[in-house]
Amino acid sequence: MSTLEVLDPATGAPLTSVEAADLPATDAAVARAHAALPAWRSVAPGDRARLLRRFAAAVDGDLENLARLEVANAGHTIGNARWEAGNVRDVLDYYSATPERLSGRQIPVPGGVNVTFHEPVGVVGVIVPWNFPMPIAGWGLAPALAAGNTVVLKPAELTPLTALRLAELAHQAGIPEDVFQVLPGEGPVVGERFVTHPLVRKVVFTGSTAVGKEVMAGCAAQVKRVTLELGGNNANVVFADADLAKAAATAPYAVFDNAGQDCCARSRILVQRSVHEEFMALFEEAVRGVVVGAPGDEATEMGPLISARHLARVSSYVDESDVAFRGSAPAGPGFWFPPTVLSVPAGHRAVTEEVFGPVVAVLPFDDEADAVRQANDTDYGLSASIWTRDVGRALRVSRAVEAGNLSVNSHSSVRHWTPFGGFKQSGLGRELGPDAPHGFTETKNVFISSE
Ligand code: NAD
Repeated sequence: MSTLEVLDPATGAPLTSVEAADLPATDAAVARAHAALPAWRSVAPGDRARLLRRFAAAVDGDLENLARLEVANAGHTIGNARWEAGNVRDVLDYYSATPERLSGRQIPVPGGVNVTFHEPVGVVGVIVPWNFPMPIAGWGLAPALAAGNTVVLKPAELTPLTALRLAELAHQAGIPEDVFQVLPGEGPVVGERFVTHPLVRKVVFTGSTAVGKEVMAGCAAQVKRVTLELGGNNANVVFADADLAKAAATAPYAVFDNAGQDCCARSRILVQRSVHEEFMALFEEAVRGVVVGAPGDEATEMGPLISARHLARVSSYVDESDVAFRGSAPAGPGFWFPPTVLSVPAGHRAVTEEVFGPVVAVLPFDDEADAVRQANDTDYGLSASIWTRDVGRALRVSRAVEAGNLSVNSHSSVRHWTPFGGFKQSGLGRELGPDAPHGFTETKNVFISSE
């Protein structure tokens, strides 16, 4: 058995180490999850609902502890980490309604009736990235369990602690141990085995587009069901008629939240040329005001990056670019990087790629058509913001931008009761919202003869 070293990104100091599952341990966990299926899918809907509500209550009772664990392990600000733990609770609560509502149809046909059932897919493998360990775990496991599946979940190598705690809470709440298992381990070992193991019938993968493509190709070999939530390179489009003060004051949080390690980070700000200068002056003031520091302090707005490796990657984009202005960050130890605004042309690597750090480029556009063209000039299609006071334009641009989650005069589009997912290479399928449990079922059609 190997171990995963878990660090505190704010200091770089070791926090703990966690046992990493190997292939035999992964196979054993999948076998247990498979053996647990018949009993779990047979639990009466009301009882399964009650177990999910008890799990939600256990998360609620442990909220501060979960949040503090994420502050320590992922460097999330305490305010964000509380929201993230609360989001797991809310998602469990929301999908606790599913067992009693998941129902098929009866369709009259000549000589009898057709009845449809939504059968659980089977064992679901959930693969989670390091940037939002709690919510992304919850988005996969809650609808999967609610629909009668069993779940094996692999947290990212760097951030296993909250997932392990969620498993403890689930089991304390009465969810059987083999129904929800957490397996820390390496992606190419545990994650890849979820993809190749014939008894894992669905993979929910959230992570980079590069690995997502491998996961999709691997799943194709068995026509395995797969949901992909991948990278983003998202536009924040500011028209000249917008409330510029509000757009500029909120833009830093739309990209520097979670130190920019957010698939929805609005890392390309497109500003109509006629107000570009005015916007930049307001934006600079806002960027310089972002409070970067110890993530456990209540006043902190931005914490560190996740690792030394990621810090080097983010730095590589900035080292070769003109910096317009930047905020400040602690010198270290720890993996700190200041909020940074680049002055680079369209086509620059920092504009075309997902930087995944507190780095933003501001680019001018001429008119509505140019704004839409630039917003769509990327292989990604996860989210976007549109700032304008013209309702017609807001609607036209929202329809024209190829992205799954948009917000108008706001940056907030992620809510657990509304669907979330990407266009183009940002993913496949949708999580959250009322339809998510259907992604964890197979529709079965049974003809019953009346003759
Ligand atoms: P990553 O692709 O490196 O890893 C994601 C997960 O996949 C980890 O658990 C990793 O261990 C595992 N993995 C690695 N190789 C694997 C393999 N060969 N087979 C199976 N699993 C494997 O991504 P990351 O660096 O942890 O996360 C950052 C990326 O995630 C960014 O691109 C970000 O945009 C994306 N992301 C997307 C969403 C979304 O909802 N669209 C949300 C959060 C993060």
